[in-house]
Amino acid sequence: MIVEMERGVEVQQVDGVVQRAKSFGFQVQLNMGTDKIVIAILGGNTGQVPTDTFAVLPGVGSVTRIMKPYKLASREFKVEDSLVDVSGVQVGGKRVVVMAGPCAVENEKQLMEVAGAVKEAGAAVLRGGAFKPRTSPFSFQGLEEAGLDLLAKARETFSMPVIPEVVDPHDVARGVKSADILQVGARNMQNFALLTEVGKSKRPVLLKRGFSSTVTEWLTAADYLLAEGNNQVILGERGIRTFEDSVRFSLDISSIPVIKKSSHLPLIVDPSHAAGHYSLVPAIAKAAVAAGADGILIEVHPNPKEALMDGLQSLTISDFARLMTELKAIARSIGRDL
Ligand code: PEP
Ligand code: MN
Repeated sequence: MIVEMERGVEVQQVDGVVQRAKSFGFQVQLNMGTDKIVIAILGGNTGQVPTDTFAVLPGVGSVTRIMKPYKLASREFKVEDSLVDVSGVQVGGKRVVVMAGPCAVENEKQLMEVAGAVKEAGAAVLRGGAFKPRTSPFSFQGLEEAGLDLLAKARETFSMPVIPEVVDPHDVARGVKSADILQVGARNMQNFALLTEVGKSKRPVLLKRGFSSTVTEWLTAADYLLAEGNNQVILGERGIRTFEDSVRFSLDISSIPVIKKSSHLPLIVDPSHAAGHYSLVPAIAKAAVAAGADGILIEVHPNPKEALMDGLQSLTISDFARLMTELKAIARSIGRDL
């Protein structure tokens, strides 16, 4: 249930609603908007309580039920777009934010070379996996802690925020020490223990869409992060499984306007994991910016042929620099910067 307070209400009136909700055993989340305060009343059985219970309280403007399974990620709860601050880089504003780097951190030379190059080309955030969720247990699993140390070094050297992935709730605290933003990957979108831990960390998070998940399931997973009081949530579209096998995953371009309509959260698109091939990445990236994505996450490797993983979909440094110029033109044409 969503309770919209009238403009200029007293603190006691907000508290009155909160206390009434708590008396039923419900949870409460407040959105202190610039215009008015909105209170989300959350619980499995809010449907059994009449809306009038809250509508009669002083200072209450209106009470509506959210019929969708996701509540805190919804536009009903928060009308204005959310901005996420990744150590000074604003995601969800006018600037289209590019996050770029290798699929996995492989060694110091590789990471430093790519970090310097993507920064030079205009990327705002350095990506690089230290813990890799691999389909096969025999594949390279990432440098783990040593990878996080290298990311911390790159962050220091290039004054650039870094985004590694966390795959296990026990790694969240360690990830927070080295990273500005944590990625929850497609395979973990519904790893609820992980989402809760990342939510508690209050660190900005990129929540990728599970490749067999609907937009509704994705936004409901985002509620796990938001429910812990972490409002620094960015969504990541990375393609879904369809019958089409000419690409690794089908990038669901329509999820961009759908998310913009249904949610206040910023949205980033990963064309690399969707495409699966470097030659397809630029077109998908440009389409995503044109369709309204707030950012792009791209895999770049100094020498894709030698990459330990995802080399086929990684751009070379020069291809990435060329793409950045093209993306700038698209961003400008829709009134955004990059
Ligand atoms: C990644 O970003 O390296 C990754 C594994 O992505 P996804 O979870 O989208 O497959
Ligand atoms: Mn990858």
